[in-house]
Amino acid sequence: MMRAASNILLLLAFFAVAPCQEQPAKTPPVTRMVRCGALIQPADGKVQHNVLIIVEGDRIREVRENSSDSSGAQVIDLSDHTCLPGLIDSHTHVLLQGDITAADYDEQLLKQSVAYRAILATRSVKRALEYGFTTIRDLETEGAGYADVDLKKAINRGIIPGPRMQVATRAMDVTGAYPLLGYAPEVPVPHGVQVVDGPDNARKAVREQISYGADWIKVYSDRSYFVRPDGVLDDIPTFTLDELRAIVDEAHRQHHKVASHAMALNGVHNSVAAGVDSIEHGNYITDADLKTMALKGIYYIPTIYVGEYVAQGRAAAGAKVWLDMIKIHEDTFHRALNAGVKIVFGTDVGGFDWGIDPAKEFSYMVKYGMTPAQAIRAATATPAEMMGMQNDVGTIAAGKYADLVAVKGDPLSDVSLLEKIDFVMKGGEVFKSPLH
Ligand SMILES: [Zn+2]
Repeated sequence: MMRAASNILLLLAFFAVAPCQEQPAKTPPVTRMVRCGALIQPADGKVQHNVLIIVEGDRIREVRENSSDSSGAQVIDLSDHTCLPGLIDSHTHVLLQGDITAADYDEQLLKQSVAYRAILATRSVKRALEYGFTTIRDLETEGAGYADVDLKKAINRGIIPGPRMQVATRAMDVTGAYPLLGYAPEVPVPHGVQVVDGPDNARKAVREQISYGADWIKVYSDRSYFVRPDGVLDDIPTFTLDELRAIVDEAHRQHHKVASHAMALNGVHNSVAAGVDSIEHGNYITDADLKTMALKGIYYIPTIYVGEYVAQGRAAAGAKVWLDMIKIHEDTFHRALNAGVKIVFGTDVGGFDWGIDPAKEFSYMVKYGMTPAQAIRAATATPAEMMGMQNDVGTIAAGKYADLVAVKGDPLSDVSLLEKIDFVMKGGEVFKSPLH
């Protein structure tokens, strides 16, 4: 995510749940019961004990506390486990398989066909589900066109296993700002985004991406980061404010939302001024912009882990700014928490290898000042609201999808336990279980 605007790997959804043209191929008609030793309700962080969750088809019919009744129905016994709602990763790249170096990124765009990348992505979405992420917001395909729309379709049709998805398709940046860069002018190379200049073209690109299935519109708002002597993380903004405003206006006019990759001073400020719906990364945000974000309800997806993950290597390669950015990021996170900004769990996985469990992010959020309950809310109820899916996912309650995960032990005492999810149910279907 963060090789300057260049590598970030890297959105948008309907205000409502994803469109309903994709119905699951089959809905299990069975009634199932799941017994949980404990159940964390993320809205208030409360824990219920000895809970029986009654699932009918793909939805939860009832949640009973202190219940022993099983009425002879099939019971999945997780009485030695803690259950919580299916987790949500709000910043993924299923079509990217790690791009810690610029060479990794160029290799994928120059030497892998979109078809091959889509095959690899089927493995990424399966892994997401196995890690416990039953919903993801995938923030652009990095040169793989509209393949995310097809992955979402294949999952919704039950062809491949994977999480519920909201997708951003191609994302946008201006001429000269996004890889591939550095090749001879005579050599045409692909780009990891749709290159857009000018408010009219930007508006047209929004229309085009939505017509091909984008839920969210993603923009890259800044690049080329540097720390000023006064400690402020500065940047070169990409889009002009007029361009960003055109993008946001067109997306909102069509009831879609806008996610902005913005890591530093001007990128964040312009995005907030233009009225985007989420700030991605946000390593440095002024107090004034945090105040506006809290007032307008603009979400903040800090993606902490990936920054720490890439920093050492990039610093060793001479880019010391990455080490400074970690300290700045932690300070921003504290100030955002104190300002009451809605903070959402997102990892940028795909920017790092899908073999690493993205749930590592939880420990970083807690290290930076959240309680485990706050970090869990940031990966369940809050993103469900951000994605307009609050009636379907994010909490365990009657009427919602039967998306739930379970771990041994108490993640409210040790949030790193969420890296050991051993039970995953999505839409009433069990994808992972310790029971067999
Ligand atoms: Zn990203």
